Amino acid sequence: MKLILLGPPGAGKGTQAVRIEENFGIIQLSTGDMLRSSVASGSELGKKVKSIMESGGLVPDGIMIDMIRDRISKNDCSAGFILDGFPRTTAQAEALDVMLMNFNKPLDAVIELKVIDDVLIKRIAGRFTCANCGEGYNKELKPLKKDGVCDKCGGLSFKFRKDDREDTVAARLKAYHDMTAPLIPYYSKKDVLFSVDGMKNIDEVSKDVNNILKRLT
Ligand code: AMP
Repeated sequence: MKLILLGPPGAGKGTQAVRIEENFGIIQLSTGDMLRSSVASGSELGKKVKSIMESGGLVPDGIMIDMIRDRISKNDCSAGFILDGFPRTTAQAEALDVMLMNFNKPLDAVIELKVIDDVLIKRIAGRFTCANCGEGYNKELKPLKKDGVCDKCGGLSFKFRKDDREDTVAARLKAYHDMTAPLIPYYSKKDVLFSVDGMKNIDEVSKDVNNILKRLT
């Protein structure tokens, strides 16, 4: 199955992608994670994109398109993939259409997670992840059961994203509304768009997403 998770920052794309990966055995491809590991490794690409990411802007289309083309041509994507964070512009969506046509891997569904900006800001402000296993938390919405200890793996250190600061979040939301939101009518016209109420709690959203995917399989 070839899926896209579409939605603003903080809508829950990463959380839902991990669950789809677990439930349906399809690999999650997060362009944000790929870029963050390039930045952490200090690679040439990482040096190029670091300041763009920290300011909340979008990395140039050419870089992103090459990155996804390389990644989806790998063997572990042959059974399908969930794109989390790509495409983010119409140019990326058009390039993806061509790639999928060339690989003969048509898109099965685009799942849009709908959440209003006020809620996104609150969610992003409180989020952090376990530095060991990557489990996501939120100070208010999904706190640790035991202070300072990861519920999932017992890890004791946690990470906050640099671009989750308030000023950067405003820029990221603007980039979403200006550049990414036009993909909703783009995929709706292609009859592959499913919209889910991302304001519900994580388990309810998962249930709605699973119901859509079960109908497709
Ligand atoms: P994310 O983890 O998906 O929120 O992505 C974090 C940051 O990485 C974004 O704010 C952008 O700067 C950059 N980024 C990730 N995916 C893309 C993409 N498809 N196009 C452009 N920039 C991207």
